[in-house]
Amino acid sequence: MTDASKYYKIDDGKLVRTHRVCPKCGPSYFLADHYDRSSCGNCGYTVFKRKGKKGAATVARSRRTPRKRTKST
Ligand SMILES: [Zn+2]
Repeated sequence: MTDASKYYKIDDGKLVRTHRVCPKCGPSYFLADHYDRSSCGNCGYTVFKRKGKKGAATVARSRRTPRKRTKST
């Protein structure tokens, strides 16, 4: 059993990604799907989904420090 199949589908003989991939980490890193955004669990890259609202554009942002996980306090 593999979960990878949910990230791809075969459309007319071609492999089609059904999930976004992280542009920073590469095509093997898929963005976690949230109701209003997709985010990379590796580097924190986040893409907000368009909801059809006025002025709601897709915005990409990322954290300053991709791999460091510092605990404050
Ligand atoms: Zn990433």
